[in-house]
Amino acid sequence: MLALPAAAADPLTAPIECRDCQVWNQAEPPVHIYGNSYYVGVVGLSSVLIVTRDGLILLDGDLPQSAPLIEKNIRTLGHQMREVKLILVSHEHFDHVGGIAALKRDSGARVLAGADAAKALGQGHPTEADPQYDKTGKFPFPKVAGVETVTDGQAITLGDVTVTAHRTPGHTPGGTSWSWSSCEKDRCLAMVYADSLTAMSTAAGYRFAPVADSFRASIAKVRGLPCDILVSTHPTVSGFWKKMEKGSFVDPEGCRELAAGAEAALERRLVEEAR
Ligand SMILES: [Zn+2]
Repeated sequence: MLALPAAAADPLTAPIECRDCQVWNQAEPPVHIYGNSYYVGVVGLSSVLIVTRDGLILLDGDLPQSAPLIEKNIRTLGHQMREVKLILVSHEHFDHVGGIAALKRDSGARVLAGADAAKALGQGHPTEADPQYDKTGKFPFPKVAGVETVTDGQAITLGDVTVTAHRTPGHTPGGTSWSWSSCEKDRCLAMVYADSLTAMSTAAGYRFAPVADSFRASIAKVRGLPCDILVSTHPTVSGFWKKMEKGSFVDPEGCRELAAGAEAALERRLVEEAR
């Protein structure tokens, strides 16, 4: 029997190794969140699919090695990759944007992100202003050319769905949260895909104090959003899997609780920095 040649490895989905990557990247079947919205990510990294009359919107691409799992979930829901018209970005770290190059290639979708996130995607690593900027280039991700920049409050419409960009810098300079409406029969709920709001740095000597005001404003923005259903970039942060077990993702306190936790952590961090 002839041995078949091994399939050529896809450079855009070559795995990134990190402490939590294997745990995060476990496959999960797609989950119906509400109305037009589905979870298509992996166990520890969110990716949300919004179905519109004129195609699909995808929020985040997770790790490079997550892209085939996200694509499988999209196909399981009965769609094809070429139906994905827009890919929206939360923030420019390898665990949320690593898969976007492959997902863009396989769909032909436009990619939209905050300014620093767009720049980071173009160069394949975070910008120097990033709290997790790594001079040694330890966690690069596949570059994505032609990423379009969104401004705060910008409305992006595809078919019958409008998603609004909320610039929420702090965790990264390019961080963006997203909101839209999702309806079942005549009950429409406010959906929020909130970016990470954790004051966490790995760059040597990084201080949050100089960006504290804009970080606080980002947290306040998330707190103030109409928010019936919250999905965070790491699903456990907003209790996604527990809510799934309960059978409903409706949680009107979700955004306020996320903001309260983020605010407390930021203020603790600022106190530590001032010591
Ligand atoms: Zn991050």
